[in-house]
Amino acid sequence: MSMVKTEGVCKTFHGGNGRKPLDVLKNVSLTVEQKEVVCIIGPSGAGKSTYLRTLNRLESIDEGQIYIEDKLLFDCHNAVNSVKMHNDERNKILLEVGMVFQRFNLFPHKTALENVMLAPLNVRKLPFNEAQEKSVSILERVGLGDKINTFPAQLSGGQQQRVAIARALAMEPRIMLFDEPTSSLDPELVGEVLAVMKQLAKAGMTMLVVSHEMGFAREVANRVVFMYEGKILEIGTPGQIFSNPENDRTRQFLNSVL
Ligand code: ADP
Ligand code: MG
Repeated sequence: MSMVKTEGVCKTFHGGNGRKPLDVLKNVSLTVEQKEVVCIIGPSGAGKSTYLRTLNRLESIDEGQIYIEDKLLFDCHNAVNSVKMHNDERNKILLEVGMVFQRFNLFPHKTALENVMLAPLNVRKLPFNEAQEKSVSILERVGLGDKINTFPAQLSGGQQQRVAIARALAMEPRIMLFDEPTSSLDPELVGEVLAVMKQLAKAGMTMLVVSHEMGFAREVANRVVFMYEGKILEIGTPGQIFSNPENDRTRQFLNSVL
């Protein structure tokens, strides 16, 4: 069973106000196996965020199919809304997919613990004590056991991002998507977030990570995907992509960031 499978995914943004439509994803096919860590790299505007967002239905698609754990999430040949799946069923699939963004989006008036407890309480409908116990242990896992009652404003960016990771983990996702999780952090705070991600990968989480942390990709990724102008131009092991890229665009991109 593959964890994520996309076949021929296309997406066009229609600008409105007479702006030209923009093809953002052009025939993107990718399969991610269980426990695999796949890093997506590529220049700004390549479609990396849009692609991740289609995987938990934050974006619709115009063409292609998306499967999560072999279950069809999206099929354009049947038109989005006529897929024979109840919303309940689709929402259940989406619970399997956790996402962490560049911006943490924590609730400022809630403590770290309260932020993490929201989903277990409201979505998973766990009893209060169980949700609390579970959330505390997840915060401990990301190294924030001593910050459970702290409000986001009193936490560093790295700590806030770790709360955001804890919040996603509290849903018990089977797949985690990360969209440039460290790119808004001060350089000295990047390491603590990557360390948590590394630990997750080691524990067997299936992960799709958009990041330009090449050290992380080299060390943790099973495969690296290079996206350019809405297409996957190259997929390979970190060794292949970083040391011996086949595509000129990949080479140019790596030269510009390394
Ligand atoms: P990346 O994450 O690789 O930088 P994105 O997926 O964010 O790329 O964006 C790909 C392209 O789609 C960019 O040109 C961006 O401006 C455009 N885009 C992203 N979101 C929207 C939107 N909601 N409406 C219109 N255009 C968008
Ligand atoms: Mg992006």
